[in-house]
Amino acid sequence: MLTLTANDVRLGATATDWQHALAQAAGELERAGRTTADYLTGMMTREQQSSTVLGNGIAIPHGTPDSRSAVLDTGIRLLQFPDGVTWHDGNRVHVLVAIAAQSDEHLDILRDLTRVLDQPGLADQLARADDAEALVRLLSTPPVQVKCDRDSLCLGVDAGSATELALTAAARLQRLQCVDRDFLGAIVGQTPVSLGQGFWLVHHGLGARRPALALATPKQPAPDLQGVFCLAGPGDQCRELLERLDGFLAVGERIDTLGADALLARLAGEAPDAVSAQVVLLNTHGLHARPAKQLVQEARRHNARIRVRLLDGDGAAVSATSLTRIIGLGARRGQTLVLSATGEDAQPAITALAAAITGGLGEAVTPLASTPASAPEPAAAEPEPLVDDQPLKAVAASPGLALAPAFVLRQPTLDYPATAADPEEQIQRLNRAIDESDGQLRSLIRQAEGGEAAPILSVHVEMLQDEDLYQATLEAIGEGASAEAGWWQAIDTAARAQEALADRLLAERAADLRDVGRRVLANLCGVSMPTPPDSPYMLVAEDLGPSDVARLDTTRVRGLVTARGGATAHSAILARALGLPAVVGAGERVLTLTDGAELVVDGERGCVVANPAAERRDRIQRRLEQLAELQAEAHSQRHEPATTLDGHTLEVCANLGNTAHTPDAVERGADGIGLLRTEFIFMAHPEAPDLATQEREYRHAFDALNGLPLVARTLDVGGDKPLDYWPLPQEDNPFLGLRGIRLSLTRPEILETQVRALLRAAGDRPLRLMFPMVKDLDEFRAAKAIVQRVQDEIGAPDLQIGVMIEVPSSALLAPTLAPEVDFFSVGTNDLTQYTLAIDRGHGQLSAESDALHPAVLRLIQMTVAAAHAHGRWVGVCGELASDPLAIPVLLGLEVDELSVTSRRVPLVKACIRKLSLETARTQAALALSKATAVEVRDALEAS
Ligand code: PEP
Ligand code: MG
Repeated sequence: MLTLTANDVRLGATATDWQHALAQAAGELERAGRTTADYLTGMMTREQQSSTVLGNGIAIPHGTPDSRSAVLDTGIRLLQFPDGVTWHDGNRVHVLVAIAAQSDEHLDILRDLTRVLDQPGLADQLARADDAEALVRLLSTPPVQVKCDRDSLCLGVDAGSATELALTAAARLQRLQCVDRDFLGAIVGQTPVSLGQGFWLVHHGLGARRPALALATPKQPAPDLQGVFCLAGPGDQCRELLERLDGFLAVGERIDTLGADALLARLAGEAPDAVSAQVVLLNTHGLHARPAKQLVQEARRHNARIRVRLLDGDGAAVSATSLTRIIGLGARRGQTLVLSATGEDAQPAITALAAAITGGLGEAVTPLASTPASAPEPAAAEPEPLVDDQPLKAVAASPGLALAPAFVLRQPTLDYPATAADPEEQIQRLNRAIDESDGQLRSLIRQAEGGEAAPILSVHVEMLQDEDLYQATLEAIGEGASAEAGWWQAIDTAARAQEALADRLLAERAADLRDVGRRVLANLCGVSMPTPPDSPYMLVAEDLGPSDVARLDTTRVRGLVTARGGATAHSAILARALGLPAVVGAGERVLTLTDGAELVVDGERGCVVANPAAERRDRIQRRLEQLAELQAEAHSQRHEPATTLDGHTLEVCANLGNTAHTPDAVERGADGIGLLRTEFIFMAHPEAPDLATQEREYRHAFDALNGLPLVARTLDVGGDKPLDYWPLPQEDNPFLGLRGIRLSLTRPEILETQVRALLRAAGDRPLRLMFPMVKDLDEFRAAKAIVQRVQDEIGAPDLQIGVMIEVPSSALLAPTLAPEVDFFSVGTNDLTQYTLAIDRGHGQLSAESDALHPAVLRLIQMTVAAAHAHGRWVGVCGELASDPLAIPVLLGLEVDELSVTSRRVPLVKACIRKLSLETARTQAALALSKATAVEVRDALEAS
């Protein structure tokens, strides 16, 4: 939609003539940082080519394609001339919408603009408005996009009554994501209304996501049953669709004489006797204002009623003589325009228009086949096989060393027929496969009980029970599809609909949907998912979803290698929670390994070696033995404090996502819980857990801790952690959007309930409460005020309130935060992401996203200095705290607590016991003196 704000509007402008007005418009764009001064020349040239007046007193001045280099940032400015300006084509203009656009966004801006500007009376309201906000509101009403196209036709359905046809049409709209199941419920209770001529209508606004019209026709039409229309959406948004329906009925043709194309043409408002033609648009930048104007001018030359529509669009045909409507089609290069005309000159008009469009409407065009865009994609090169005994660099994702035969997880090929004769049998097969999948998922959940993967698998179970998916599959089966084809079609449509929203979180949900979908499909095809060997193995996969990690038999799997993925993505965190050495982002070459090939995974150095030679193999065996000894020693001393050789003690705590793991953490020697990721508790529930449920969960942890402290982080959703029942607005970059405390502060009642549950569960036991993603004191104070309110009400004798240092601003501002907080806990995963500007899950870049980067270390140093100056303590709860090379540095930077996955607690304690604070300070100074993370690692390894 338009990116117009009140600041982009200038009311009450005056101009001596149109050039003066244009110069002001160019000046406004330049001042807003959208263009350079050169853009005015491009705008002038554009006016010389043809006027940019749209009609209705509105002009849309913009530059020529050549002047796009003067555009710095796409945007628009609006200048209102209440007294009007006479344009060079003689039109009187009251509103200038000056556009700065690079190539293809241009068309979207124009289309949105024309859809809005086309509203009757709007131009007048714009010219008279005396308030910029009101004017922005007038222009920001999103255009209603209706659905009525080939997808919404269900022709020749095996159904005998209007009610059955109505349900088929409604189910189709649901499958197209135009409506939800409430709509279906509303239609079930409706008796179709006769429209005459054997046509019927059902209509409801409940559950409609967008206005849509579907038509279901019977296999054998009868005079009293030709078809049933199903209309979705509130009445005011359905006006256009009702007009189309009216036009269709007015023609009065029998349905059995019409194919799908003719039906769509009638529904688009084309007369049966219309002359029509289809033409492919060749203009590089689509049907933007200038070629659109040429088309309109050509259409006006003929004595005919000419209409134009897109072959693959929302189906509406528009008048060829309306510039705004033609631009509003938003036609792009390569799309097919359907022209139709009635009247005296119909045939010559269509011939001339088709020729003009093919000729480029005044622009130089090239045929589609000769463009690079349509050139055949070069075949993807086969990845080279790994070379024996040669280390391959990858991203270290979970520490540890392992040697075992490889097992490469390859998705099975699933072959199935597209159609099936007996729908009843298909439905039974589908039900069986869903039940089977449900059983498999539930047993996986039991295996993963208490683990971080369990909540994600619960979401899979819910997806499996999704009524929309089921209904869509039934509908496809009703139309003759096999259970497999129907199911996959439903999954694919739903997944694509989510992906199309270009929202990263929804795209991840789409991956989950496909994961669930494949499981059911495999069950339908009688193909079992790949089975790993009975003996120990190293799992190699393209990528691993949480459900794959949960499926792992940890008694046999020795390590993980993925071709893709990043080190701090949550699937990598799950691998660490399982204590498995893992490397990720190793590239496609690892997928060429044959099953059984011997593989070394070094999760500390971040490398894999295939088929190691005898010498390397022996060396690794020796290291494994030493590590096992170290582990045994660390385990036996796990309940001892982590005190350095020179008597300095650090607390070593555990990170948890599930309170059921608390006894395990205590058993492994944790000095407390240093990070409870409470969002995992929220994710395990289909809706926000209430006070009692939360209190019960937190109480488990306190009871198991026997007086040890618990650091609970308040709900941290957004970014890469979505919550189904808390839908977030679509954001271009969710990691920089509403997440963490920012999001919680938009729903203070949820935060307050969580705080109340924590305080009640804690009683007089030590609770440390911290807020995620705090960027400055304002956010901390807002969140703390909520906690204090609850504390005043129910009391909390041993409560500390802190912030996570995850955003560079909070580290830089630590001296201002320190006097008001009780502690800091450094979340190095996010702190590294935001300091180095590298997405924590980025497959290609994550090797460079190293928390041992000197920039991150300096931020930690600043945090500690500020905290200690005010007598506050500092913990590190990000993954850096588990890194053996980083432990001396963090000790030397004088952090007071490290919090790591439970399994690592004994080893981290053992590592600290071998150090002295003095040497650690030297290590920290060495690290801080370096310029890059690689230099830091090299220097630390060499020292
Ligand atoms: C971090 O960002 O370092 C952290 C501990 O929080 P999370 O990984 O849950 O975002
Ligand atoms: Mg974080």
